[in-house]
Amino acid sequence: MGTFSVNKVVIAGAGQAAVQAVTSLRAGGFAGSVTMIGAEPVPPYQRPPLSKAYLSGAMGLDRVVLKPLEALADEGVTFVPATKVVTLNRQDRTVTDSAGHAHAYDALIIASGSHVRQLSVEGADLAGVHYLRTVADADGLREELAAGRRLVVIGGGYIGLEVAAIARKAGMDVTLVEALPRVLARVTTPQISAFYEELHRNEGVAVMTGTGVVRLTGNDRVDGVMLDDGRVLPADAVLVGIGIIPNTDLASGADLDVDNGIVVDEDARTSDRQIFAIGDCATRPLVHYQGRRGRLESVHNALEQAKLAAAAILGLPRPPLEPPWFWSDQYDVKLQTAGLSGGSQRTIIRGSPADRRFAAFHLDGDNRLLAVDAINAPPEFVVGKQLIARGLKVAPEKLGDMSISMKQIAADTL
Ligand SMILES: Cc1cc2nc3c(=O)[nH]c(=O)nc-3n(C[C@H](O)[C@H](O)[C@H](O)COP(=O)(O)OP(=O)(O)OC[C@H]3O[C@@H](n4cnc5c(N)ncnc54)[C@H](O)[C@@H]3O)c2cc1C
Repeated sequence: MGTFSVNKVVIAGAGQAAVQAVTSLRAGGFAGSVTMIGAEPVPPYQRPPLSKAYLSGAMGLDRVVLKPLEALADEGVTFVPATKVVTLNRQDRTVTDSAGHAHAYDALIIASGSHVRQLSVEGADLAGVHYLRTVADADGLREELAAGRRLVVIGGGYIGLEVAAIARKAGMDVTLVEALPRVLARVTTPQISAFYEELHRNEGVAVMTGTGVVRLTGNDRVDGVMLDDGRVLPADAVLVGIGIIPNTDLASGADLDVDNGIVVDEDARTSDRQIFAIGDCATRPLVHYQGRRGRLESVHNALEQAKLAAAAILGLPRPPLEPPWFWSDQYDVKLQTAGLSGGSQRTIIRGSPADRRFAAFHLDGDNRLLAVDAINAPPEFVVGKQLIARGLKVAPEKLGDMSISMKQIAADTL
């Protein structure tokens, strides 16, 4: 666009998306000032290891941090940690932080992420009840991991499942309680849910689906989880992973469009042309799925939207867009998923779930690939992602035939 001149960029938030915005702005030649204000007391870091190698202790904080303070300084970024942006004044083009300082901007990037949904039952505030969003949360949870202790995980989403896997590896006695009839119900198809339920049961997790939690018991510390059928599961610790809520207060307080996320266009621009919103806090057009928009909770989305915002601020061409993609690590199983399976008419399984190496291809009524879930199957993921990006029709019988390589399918189709 480049029709307004930008000398001062302010970024509200200092996570995955914010860091990429800085990188892309500088790589694109932006020589003006960048101020990055982040609520947490630590340098910007990546969250995926918090439920994986960081939680298990295999990875230290140094490897989780995305940009140490020196790197930020080298890039000419004024980093303001442990400080929240609390108000946005669009008329004056300033934001005010929790220390009372005002920061003027020509372009503002809101990269405020999300916060965890809280469990709203009696006892939810007892000690020993954990959530997982920040390094501090992961440090607190790690202290609970010890062989022989009992962990109840409430919520069968990716976070709950990944924590269950790490806790089992640590020798804990793990029960996972999910209110819906299957795990991962919000994000994937029944076949993949069934695979993960079986995987966790085989690894010794007691998986209880279609089961609600009515109360947490204990005096000072949690000692049990009461289910909706009246049973009480004894617990030494509880991990709650029941979803996140986008941080949109700043935007709604300044009358920007908000609808389960800050509403942005294809350039990550909000309803104010000098304000952008990127990452978990934004709801964006899903360009590979005509007419749809939505909020994506993934590293890929955070990075892609950061690049879009930086390009728009610098007046550079819009970078190419990939279909949404995501990964999850549990035990020896790596899931890589591309696309969105909602609205799929047919699922083709390639390979064998029993071998822990297979892919589920989700097709629409015209045999266009909408999504792929690849379990320990990188070629299926890579080729599937390309097919989704191109919106091409595929022959279902080929996808299901292991004697035809993915390379061949790509050569025949792309
Ligand atoms: C445990 C865990 C595991 C995950 N695993 C995966 C995975 O395997 N693969 C994957 O693709 N994704 C994964 N994700 C999701 C991924 O980490 C997020 O989608 C990504 O971090 C979003 O980036 P973001 O910059 O939008 O938000 P964040 O990284 O959350 O950064 C936002 C930052 O802004 C700060 N902030 C909020 N409000 C304000 C304010 N008003 N002023 C100043 N600062 C503010 C927040 O404190 C936070 O530090 C995982 C997430 C978690 C929590």
